[in-house]
Amino acid sequence: MHIKTDQSIIASYMEDHSGLLGGKADRVAFPESEVDIINFLRQAAQDTTPVTIAGAGTGVTGGRVPFGGSVLSLERMNRILDITVDSDGSAVAIVQPGVSVDELKIAAAKKGLMYPPDPTERSAWIGGNVATNASGSRGYKYGPTRNYVKRLRVVLSSGEVLEIYRGMYIAQDYIFKLPSRTFQAPRYRLPKIKNAAGYFSAPDMDLIDLFIGQEGTLGVITEIEVQLLPLGQQCVAGIAFFENESASWRFVSSARTAIAALSFEYFDRYSLALLREDYPHIPPRAQAAIFFEQDVDAAATDCAVQEWYTLLETNNAIMDAIWFSANAREQEIFREFRHALPEKVNQIVKQNRLPKVGTDIAVPPESFIDMMHAYHEAFEASGMQYLIFGHIGECHLHANILPKTQEEFTASRALYLQLVTRAVQLGGTVSAEHGIGKLKHLFLEAMIGTAGMKEIARVKKIFDPACILGLDTIIPSALLK
Ligand SMILES: Cc1cc2nc3c(=O)[nH]c(=O)nc-3n(C[C@H](O)[C@H](O)[C@H](O)COP(=O)(O)OP(=O)(O)OC[C@H]3O[C@@H](n4cnc5c(N)ncnc54)[C@H](O)[C@@H]3O)c2cc1C
Repeated sequence: MHIKTDQSIIASYMEDHSGLLGGKADRVAFPESEVDIINFLRQAAQDTTPVTIAGAGTGVTGGRVPFGGSVLSLERMNRILDITVDSDGSAVAIVQPGVSVDELKIAAAKKGLMYPPDPTERSAWIGGNVATNASGSRGYKYGPTRNYVKRLRVVLSSGEVLEIYRGMYIAQDYIFKLPSRTFQAPRYRLPKIKNAAGYFSAPDMDLIDLFIGQEGTLGVITEIEVQLLPLGQQCVAGIAFFENESASWRFVSSARTAIAALSFEYFDRYSLALLREDYPHIPPRAQAAIFFEQDVDAAATDCAVQEWYTLLETNNAIMDAIWFSANAREQEIFREFRHALPEKVNQIVKQNRLPKVGTDIAVPPESFIDMMHAYHEAFEASGMQYLIFGHIGECHLHANILPKTQEEFTASRALYLQLVTRAVQLGGTVSAEHGIGKLKHLFLEAMIGTAGMKEIARVKKIFDPACILGLDTIIPSALLK
């Protein structure tokens, strides 16, 4: 295994896409096998050296930013080990953690298959996606990464290897009985909507779900088996513009019940203002937009297109400026339009040299309008730069505040807490897909309480008794003392 101590190499592992500054580490290790990881972790546990697991670094909450100790980069564990189709048509891929989402999607497509989780950032690795339970626009139809993980291999900080198949260990009233240990799963109530905040918890949960979404705090995921599905049929997709935001919300609300869509993505007026720099043909009077997709039989395409147009007209879309296509190449341009937005936000974050304060809140559909009003009231009164975009089909939007000064940063954190408190009152979650990382402890606590934070610390110590993995991620390390 290669270990680098040269600061010029280490430097690129001191950041992710959160804008969190001040990362430091003494070395970066590049394991080439699970055995390398076992040996490395045993030594680190013995020396109580903190270890931060690094995926592709596309995380937006600082999970892979180290504050001392070693970085364990999985970039050399990047092989697709197998893609198999059984006689009953079910298909799986077995991959190492450093395979990117893009690589897996391309390899699956060559066999007429698809990997359904669809995070916008396809350079992220599957290990990182499992560790954060990533999802994306098509999560509206397919759900998050969790739904597709059938088996994991995980190396604990002691060097012990757990191989966990879905269905192998199921808790009974939160109690797990494993050959090596009996323990109680975290006990707190999670909202029954899309959620990536804190360790998974349910009275009858599967052990594999504890390790999905653990953000590198319980063990190193070294091998992943995921379910694949047959490649979808033809897709129709469009971007529709609206003269006011509430018309776009009404459109999604009626389309959700009328059409079995793949995705609905929202752009508010400030998102469109940013995108206009690169997409000048966005209609000048547009104040909101919705990107939508649907998979259809080729023969039913015309009918599907008609159905979308009818709904758009009923809901006052700007009818002479709808971008619509049944062509895969053009649809890729729509997806690039969607992807361009978080990238533009990240550019501003880098220029400002202050982290963005980005919500990842989701609420139940019946609370969506209340939550939108809460955002607008809070942001307009603040006078700070902000924009709102994201997965409106699941009532899961990213409201990003872009502070320009330290004072604005402090004020925006206070605003965030206010919004999280409102979301929790409305039955929502503080994080539906990005996880907690090092930036959102306070917000997680607002959701699961101090007792819930202590539950996470208790469970972490069961699997990482040396307390070396992913310190300050999900919970402050002070809670581990
Ligand atoms: C432009 C942009 C768009 C994005 N869009 C989405 C989106 O649509 N949906 C979404 O969910 N996310 C999105 N993200 C966030 C990010 O892509 C995801 O959080 C992703 O899952 C991170 O994967 P990564 O490989 O980059 O992990 P990293 O950022 O390197 O790490 C993330 C966390 O996982 C841990 N980790 C990584 N690998 C392992 C492993 N093998 N074992 C144990 N722990 C591990 C790390 O320690 C860290 O805590 C976006 C990010 C960007 C920059």
